[in-house]
Amino acid sequence: MASKEKNYTLFNMGAFAALGEKEIDGAKGRIMLGAALGMTGCEISVNSTPAGKFAPFVHSHKLNEEVYIIVSGNGTYHVDGEEFPIQEGSVIRVAPEGKRAVKAGAETLIYICIQAQRGSLTQATMEDGIINEEKASWM
Ligand code: ZN
Repeated sequence: MASKEKNYTLFNMGAFAALGEKEIDGAKGRIMLGAALGMTGCEISVNSTPAGKFAPFVHSHKLNEEVYIIVSGNGTYHVDGEEFPIQEGSVIRVAPEGKRAVKAGAETLIYICIQAQRGSLTQATMEDGIINEEKASWM
């Protein structure tokens, strides 16, 4: 009898504050969760950019929109020639063709970037969720 495959993947990336010292798949301070979790609908990266640092290019995408969620620190965000300050709690959605870049400010910038194909989400939350009979130990 074949064992049933689990319906979840658990990956512990450690503390956000320790992310900057980690080097995974040649990228320092960045964890790509898609492969680590076996995701099929979006990619999520968790990033730590040291104070004053930045990726030395502006990029856009072919198909994917991105959402940047600033977890801690501060910095400056650039989209299509506009620049604005970002800090903990800032959330930026960028269309695929948006030409974007991010720079850390005086503090290390920790952010999560979620990318998914524009137009691929057809339902969510109440339309997609199902309440089950199963109970957790705390119920
Ligand atoms: Zn991107």
